[in-house]
Amino acid sequence: MSAPSPHPDSLWAPWRLAYITGDKADAPAPEPAVWRPGADTDCFLCRAAAVAATHDRTLGVLERTPTALVLLNRYPYANGHLLIAPLDHRAMLADLTSDTLLELQQRLADWCGRLQLALQAHGLNIGLNLGQVAGAGVPGHLHWHLVPRWPGDVNFMTSVAGVRVIPQALDALWEQLRSTS
Ligand SMILES: [Zn+2]
Repeated sequence: MSAPSPHPDSLWAPWRLAYITGDKADAPAPEPAVWRPGADTDCFLCRAAAVAATHDRTLGVLERTPTALVLLNRYPYANGHLLIAPLDHRAMLADLTSDTLLELQQRLADWCGRLQLALQAHGLNIGLNLGQVAGAGVPGHLHWHLVPRWPGDVNFMTSVAGVRVIPQALDALWEQLRSTS
């Protein structure tokens, strides 16, 4: 019997190392077309909002609405880990209009269903980290994390320490999820 993990709910995601170490050399950077008012040119969500939809595949963008953006997390905790964000660079929920808040909730509800259907997810974690101390990687631009879960996924990964779990290739996943509705 192995010692209990101090973080029993942590998903083992070694591909996140590139994110943690800041090695983002593989991240493509298409030229933005139109910056939104208040955009931060260093913010990857603002960049994704500003570029033409022809770059959606490169950036993993799954859906754009007039106020929201849904995209694949390039450093996923699990296969199908999505980010849902307002198009505008806003740090706090109170900074968003009621219409945008409602739209974001609708995108969350919709993509929960799409992930359950497309990836046979049995459950989902939905998280929002507001502020750097809360773990926000981009504290100026709030975004929900939507993480599909399957029975035994944590147990499996922690019980095979040393075996790297390769997520479905992001490009193939983008293609699969874009075809859902
Ligand atoms: Zn931003």
